[in-house]
Parts: sequence; C-alpha cells; structure tokens
Amino acid sequence: MSRNYVIIGPQGSGKGTQAKILSDKLGIAHVSTGEILRENVKNATEAGKKVEAIINRGDLVPDDLIAELLADRLLADDAVRGFILDGYPRNSAQFEKLRSILEEKGTELDAVIVLDVDENELLDRMELRAKKEGRKDDTPDAVKKRLAIYANETHPIIAKFEEQGNVLRIQAVGEIDEINEEIIRSL
Ligand code: AMP
Repeated sequence: MSRNYVIIGPQGSGKGTQAKILSDKLGIAHVSTGEILRENVKNATEAGKKVEAIINRGDLVPDDLIAELLADRLLADDAVRGFILDGYPRNSAQFEKLRSILEEKGTELDAVIVLDVDENELLDRMELRAKKEGRKDDTPDAVKKRLAIYANETHPIIAKFEEQGNVLRIQAVGEIDEINEEIIRSL
C-alpha cells in the first residue's frame, strides 16, 4: 500500500526539514519541487536555464514546466511506496493538475499537512537561513515576494483541501523533533 502526503507551509516554516524526516521515517519519497528546480539550475539543464532568474527573484516558475518535472519524478522507483510532496501545489491551477496526476496514477492523498508559523517568527528564521545557506532567493526582496505569493496563491488552496476533509494543521513552532512527533501522531 502506498502512502501519499502533501506538506504545505510558508518559507521558513520548516516544511523541507519535516518532509525529509517524514520520508526517512515512513520510507516514502521526498519530492521537493524546489529541490528538483535547484538541481536543474545547478546542472544547467534546458529547464534550469529557463527558470534560474525566475527562482532568484522569488516568482513561481511556469505551471507547465513544473508539472512535467513533477510527473517524471513521481515515476521514479522510490515513489512506489508513496511520497511526501513538498512545495506543490502552490496555486489553484497546480491543485487541479495534481488532482489529475493522482487520478491517472490511480492513487489518492492520505493527508495534507499544513505548517502554521506566525509571520514575525518566519522573517527571523529566513534571516538566519539566508546567512547559513546562501540561497540566492533568500534576499529581502525575494523573501517578501515569496511570502506574498504564499498568502495570495498558496494559502487559498488549503481551503480546497479542507473541503476534501484531509487537512492536519500543525503549529510549527518549537523543536524540530517535537513538531515531527506531533505530525506522526496526527497522521
Ligand atoms: P522552495 O524550495 O519550495 O521554497 O521553492 C523555491 C523556488 O522554486 C520557489 O520560490 C519557486 O520559484 C520555485 N518553485 C518551487 N516549487 C514550485 C511550484 N510548485 N510552482 C512554481 N514554482 C515553484
């Protein structure tokens, strides 16, 4: 049986970290669209060249391009037992696209994990991350842009998932391990 999850949260909510731990503990694939894109940029692929500037300024890359990369990734061997999707869907077009990808695969989501963190805490964490990781999209302008996109485009799709009744809301403040245990308990 496969287990499929989506994790949603603003930048700095720890969604990448939590997704990685969950994928290790549950033996399912960690599918991060941001990481797939960063790999493409690093390897200077056709897709990577198209998206580098878009990512660095904090905008979303085109829906078609990300859908293609995602569909390929979900075909990989490690996704057979299931996946935790990190960073997708981010807007309502992607919400619909995910629905059709899952339908085609004949599978469903078991839960959608939403990480809630207040905005001041997020800004503090992003400042720290910018210093530590040196990501090109952690500049003040790109951070602001990404928070606005989260509020305007990503946040509304939580309501759509809620209509399906499988949303777990987690207060993602505190120790990483404690937050992770709370997620596992609620799954
Ligand atoms: P993340 O690692 O999830 O913060 O993603 C980093 C950047 O990759 C985002 O700011 C976008 O530019 C791009 N990106 C990641 N996932 C998506 C997506 N689902 N749709 C469009 N752009 C994305």
